[in-house]
Amino acid sequence: MGKFWRKFFRSTVVVCLIIIFGVNYRFEMIKSIDKFKKQSDENYYYMDKNISAVNELLNILKTSGTTYYEKNVRVGNNNLDFKYLPKDDIYIFTDDADRMVAGINRISSDWSMKKELDMSEIVAASYKNVSKVMPDIAHIYYVSGKGFINIFPQIPRDKYSSVRDIYKLDFVKKELSTKSQKRETGSFWSGIYKDPLGDDPIITTGAPIYDGSTLKGIITLGLKSNFFVKKKDSSLIMEFFLVDDKGNALSTKNIENKEVSKFYDSLPKKIYEKRYKLSDMEPCDIEKIGKYYIYYEQCNSAPWKVYYVTDILKLNSEIIRSNMVFIALWFISLIFLYGVSTRKAVVKDSQQTIEKLQVMLRKSDKEVEKDFLTGAYNRKGFTKIANLELDRMKRYDIDACIIMMDIDHFKKFNDTYGHACGDFVLRSFVRVVTKNIRLSDIVGRWGGEEFLVLLPETDYKGALLAAEKIRKTVESEIFYYHNQSLNITVTIGVSKLNVGKSLEKAVEEADEAMYMGKENGRNRVVGYQDIVSKNIKLKK
Ligand code: GH3
Ligand code: MG
Ligand code: MG
Repeated sequence: MGKFWRKFFRSTVVVCLIIIFGVNYRFEMIKSIDKFKKQSDENYYYMDKNISAVNELLNILKTSGTTYYEKNVRVGNNNLDFKYLPKDDIYIFTDDADRMVAGINRISSDWSMKKELDMSEIVAASYKNVSKVMPDIAHIYYVSGKGFINIFPQIPRDKYSSVRDIYKLDFVKKELSTKSQKRETGSFWSGIYKDPLGDDPIITTGAPIYDGSTLKGIITLGLKSNFFVKKKDSSLIMEFFLVDDKGNALSTKNIENKEVSKFYDSLPKKIYEKRYKLSDMEPCDIEKIGKYYIYYEQCNSAPWKVYYVTDILKLNSEIIRSNMVFIALWFISLIFLYGVSTRKAVVKDSQQTIEKLQVMLRKSDKEVEKDFLTGAYNRKGFTKIANLELDRMKRYDIDACIIMMDIDHFKKFNDTYGHACGDFVLRSFVRVVTKNIRLSDIVGRWGGEEFLVLLPETDYKGALLAAEKIRKTVESEIFYYHNQSLNITVTIGVSKLNVGKSLEKAVEEADEAMYMGKENGRNRVVGYQDIVSKNIKLKK
């Protein structure tokens, strides 16, 4: 080969290498953005699950309060001792372990406040249980309309005087001044504010307690900012913003600095300049503003918008991290072409890199047990949890049920509005299902648009009811995809997961029942045991 051709060959290879690098970079950037989206989703679902749990809890507190006032029935057995300290104008409940709760007010000598006191004891006992499972609950208040406050857990003495400040909070004023004779039952969210008892930004959720049509007071749960902050894998999330309905934001920075600020004011300058773009975003959209990528979610269970932010630097570092082998090989090729003498060292380095990468890949394979699109468990994760549950069932000799759900005519969403719409339907579906089952139930994505729910400690009849509830709710809800209204229906098969039956068998049965439902016109629930007992033949 002549000198010219050698040079030509070398230059061509270099150009090719540069093109390969460019194409690969673009591809990896898309993957990286996708990973950011997945991480944001995971964090969002984690938060959403926590919020649902809090909603559930509030409901329990509300029910015990109302039941006490209306029926004079005390829920639970709370044996707390009561002590009044006139000097401090405070009373304290104690249990066997230690003093745990305090309330603030002068107790009138005629004991006309007896009911209020009993009420606080009920809430106190609940707090004791709750604080064990939810350490991020700052406090529970029972604020009566009569100026009688109970706060749990007990607070330090120098904070006693701040307790009454709760009456100055907007949402408390508003809720207590509800004059309506109509019985309001809904719960409310406070928006973000500074905790008068601590300095941290918190959010409070609460519910009114009624005696017939008379408003007696409100019960509130104050949630520490920790409750909302990312806890799962979030290596690509730079900033997180939770924006309440008044435009206040809880962000990573705000939490650090213990402040509450307007959402727009807490944005980086570049995003602030183009903030109008944020208001155009649809849930699950990603918007690029300057060097930033912003992912948006609309909260299901509370009136909040949630934004996750990353930037190009973070994405690039992810690309480098996950492409070490490629980059190493790329450099080796270049070096090879130019015959640099450090070749040996680089080869050794790249071998180590490959080994490190393999270890890393193996590790992440183990950790990923969720389906990122929908937040449900993937097949592997579901199987793992279901088998753990089966072990537990065997030990305690209890039964469970499995339901298999398949979205009807799902293909038409893909075909009519595109794959992204199909994805939206899958996510919305899982959201609705999750909202309509118990916290202990486990949702898994079995395949494309097929989902399983494991209902622990639920008998066959109960599982049929649960399935019917899901079917009905999905059918009645209208889903909006970019202003397009969508109706979704689902066909569900139910089967028992007795002790001694394998998970595979139960899934197979639920699948057969579901199939039967499809054949009989879709949008229905079919139980496998009913097929068996009626001896209906299944078409194969
Ligand atoms: P049927 O009422 O009988 O269940 O009809 P169907 O259209 O729902 O069922 P079918 O199984 O024929 O179609 C499922 C489609 O789901 C085919 C596949 O392309 C699509 N799909 C699978 N996974 C995904 C996904 O993650 N996203 C989207 N958008 N579509 C998916
Ligand atoms: Mg289907
Ligand atoms: Mg299907």
